[in-house]
Amino acid sequence: MKFFVVIPDGASERFDKNTALNLANTPVLDSIAPKSFMGLARTIPYGLPPGSDVGTLSIFGFDPALYAKGRSPLEIAAKKIIPPEDSLVFRMNLVSVKDGVMNDHSAGHIKDAEAQAIIEKMKKELSDFLKRYNMEIYFGKSYRNYIVWRIGDKKREDIILNTEFIPPHDILGQKIENYLDIYKKVTPELFDLMQNSKSILDGTSANMLWFWGQGKRAYLPSFEKIYGKKGWLVSAVDIIKGIAVLSGIEVLEVPGITGYLDSNFEGKVDYIVNSVRENEVGFIHIEATDETGHQGDREKKKLAVEIVDSRVIGNLLRRVDGEDFKLLVMPDHPTPCELRTHVGDPVPFMIYPCLFCKGKGCSFCGRKRFTEIEAISSPVFFDAKLIMKFFLS
Ligand SMILES: [Zn+2]
Ligand SMILES: [Zn+2]
Repeated sequence: MKFFVVIPDGASERFDKNTALNLANTPVLDSIAPKSFMGLARTIPYGLPPGSDVGTLSIFGFDPALYAKGRSPLEIAAKKIIPPEDSLVFRMNLVSVKDGVMNDHSAGHIKDAEAQAIIEKMKKELSDFLKRYNMEIYFGKSYRNYIVWRIGDKKREDIILNTEFIPPHDILGQKIENYLDIYKKVTPELFDLMQNSKSILDGTSANMLWFWGQGKRAYLPSFEKIYGKKGWLVSAVDIIKGIAVLSGIEVLEVPGITGYLDSNFEGKVDYIVNSVRENEVGFIHIEATDETGHQGDREKKKLAVEIVDSRVIGNLLRRVDGEDFKLLVMPDHPTPCELRTHVGDPVPFMIYPCLFCKGKGCSFCGRKRFTEIEAISSPVFFDAKLIMKFFLS
C-alpha cells in the first residue's frame, strides 16, 4: 500500500454554498467523493492562532499545542538553518504600502530573483547596523524572508516572544500607522530597520519590511519513528518544508514551483509518484488555494481548486491507477475569500477509498461532492491530529 496526502492550503471556506470548493468544476473530486470516507476535522485547536503551522502540524499528527512555537523557526528550518538556542527568528515580509495603507502583504508576489537581490543589498549596506544588534537576515522565498536576532537578554526576549505583531495579510486595506506603535515600543531596533531599509527598497516591487511570526528554535518528533513509514513532501512554502525537515520527511525540490497559480503542478505529482515506494507516504502541498483566498478573489480561487482537481489529484490518480493506494485530501485551515484571512473553523477532509466499505457504500461515505456542506452532513468529526494515525493504519 502507498499513501498520498494532498493538502490544498486554505481551500475551504464557510459552511454555505458560496465557496470555491462548491462553485468550482471538479469532475475528479466528484468522481471519488461518493466512495470516500468524508467528514470534518478540527485542525486548529481552540485557543491557537489559525496559521498554516498549526493546521499542518495537526495534519501530520503533531500536537500543535506542544510543537507550534511560532512559525518562523519552522520556516527557516526549510533552509536547513538551525538558529542558535538564544535567538529569536522573525518573518520579514517584503510588503507594499500605498498612501499609508497595507496594499499587498506579498509585494505583488515579488519574484525570487528580485527579493534575493534586495536581501543581499540589505546585508551589504546595513551590515554595521545588523552587527551592532546581533541580527542576521536570510532570503527565504519571494516575499517571505527572515531575521535571526540574538537579543542577549532573556527577560526582554520573553516580552518580545509574547508580543503580538500583526501579520500583514491580516491588515490588507487598513492604515498601518496604528500597527507600527508596537514596534516603536517593544522592538525599536526592528522599527529602525524598517526605516533604514527604505532607500534600498526604493524602486523595487516592495517598499517596506514587516516583521511578525516570531519564535524560538523548533523541535519535532520523527515522522518515521511514529508511523513506521518514510515520508516525502513537495511544497513551495517554507513553513511546510520546515515541518518536514524537522520531522525527517524528505523534501523534494521540484523545479518551477511557485506557490501560486503558475506553479509546476505536474512536476509536483511527478516527483512524488517517482519517489514513494511501498509502505511510504507522499505529501503534495498546494499553496495557490490559500493565496487566492488572501487575495479575496473567488474566481481565481475557483481556478486554484480546479487545478487541484485536474492537474494534481486527477494526474495523481492516473499515475497510480491499478496500484494499491490510499488518498487523503485535506486543507490545513479555511481561508474564506470574504475575510481574506485564515479562520479556525473545522475543515472538510476525505479518505479515498472509504476505509470501512472500500467505497461500496456506508454511512461514512456516499457524499456527492467534496465541499463544506457535504462534509458537515457526515457524522464524522475528528480532532485533526488523530487523522494521520487513522489514515495510515
Ligand atoms: Zn495554510
Ligand atoms: Zn494563508
